[in-house]
Amino acid sequence: MSGPRFEGRTVIVTGAGSGIGRAAALKFAGEGANVGLFELDPERAEFVRGELENIREGSGLVCAVDVSDAEAMEQAYRSVVEHFGGLDAVFANAGINGVKGPIEHMELDDFRKAIDVNLGGTFLSVKYAIPHMKKRGGGSIIITSSVNGNNRFSSIGMSPYSTSKAGQVAFAKMAALELARYRIRVNTICPGVVSTNIDESTEEDARMEEIAIPLEFPRGGDHPLAGRHGLPEEVADLAVFLASSEARHVTGTAITVDGGESLLF
Ligand code: NAD
Repeated sequence: MSGPRFEGRTVIVTGAGSGIGRAAALKFAGEGANVGLFELDPERAEFVRGELENIREGSGLVCAVDVSDAEAMEQAYRSVVEHFGGLDAVFANAGINGVKGPIEHMELDDFRKAIDVNLGGTFLSVKYAIPHMKKRGGGSIIITSSVNGNNRFSSIGMSPYSTSKAGQVAFAKMAALELARYRIRVNTICPGVVSTNIDESTEEDARMEEIAIPLEFPRGGDHPLAGRHGLPEEVADLAVFLASSEARHVTGTAITVDGGESLLF
C-alpha cells in the first residue's frame, strides 16, 4: 500500500486564506503535504492554519505576504524551505478583480492594480520557486487564471483583470518550455464562476452604465453541467492533480474547469 500522495512534500499556496486557495491548502494537507500559506490577510491565513492543525499538527506555515512584493516573496520562499526542508509544488492562485469600469475613465494606476497582483504576483511565484525546485530535481507550478480573458470576453469593464488572466496563460507556456530542462512543470487552470469572496476585491467605477451591454446570462439552474456555480473544492481537485505525479507528462497546458459554462455564456 502506498501512503498519501504528498507525504513528505512541501507545497506553497498563495491566496491561501479564502476560496480556491483555502480549499487547495486543505486538500494538499489532507494528502500529507506541508503547506506554506501565503496570504495578504494574516487573520484569514491563521484561521486556515488552525484548520490544517486539525488535519496534521504543524502542517501549515503562515507567510503574511503581498504576492506582488518581490523582496517579501523571496524571503517568504526562503522561510518555507528552511522550515519544511524543500519545495515541491507551488499553487500561484492569489488574485483580485481590481478596478472595473470604462477604459476611458481608468487611470494607469487603476489598470496596474490587477496586473501587478495577478500577473506580477504570478511572475514572482514562478521566479522564486526555480532555485528551490532545481535543488529538488523538479517540481510542479499551477497558476490560477480564469475563463475571463481566455474563453470569454463578456465581463464588461473587467479589462485589467481579463488582460492579467490572458497574460498568465502566455507566461505559463513560456515558463513551461524554459523550465522543462529542470523538470519543472508549469500549468494553468481556468475556472468559471466559483463561489468565493473574490467580489470583495472589485473596485467598481460608478460610470459603468456608460459601457454596459444588456446581456442576459442564464440563471444558476441553467448552468450546463451542475445546475450551479463551481465550488472551490472542484478547482482545488484539479490543482492537486496537476501537482501530483499522475500529471508527470502534463506541462504548458491551460485547463478549463467551469462545468461547461463558457461554452454557453
Ligand atoms: P478569494 O477572494 O476568495 O481568495 C483570494 C485570496 O487571495 C484572499 O484571501 C485574498 O486576501 C488573497 N489575496 C489577494 N491579494 C493578495 C496579494 N496581493 N497577496 C497575497 N494574497 C492576496 O478569491 P478566489 O475566487 O478564491 O480567487 C482565487 C483565484 O481564482 C484568483 O486568481 C481569481 O482571479 C481566480 N478565479 C476566481 C474565480 C471565481 O469566480 N471566484 C473565477 C476564475 C478565476
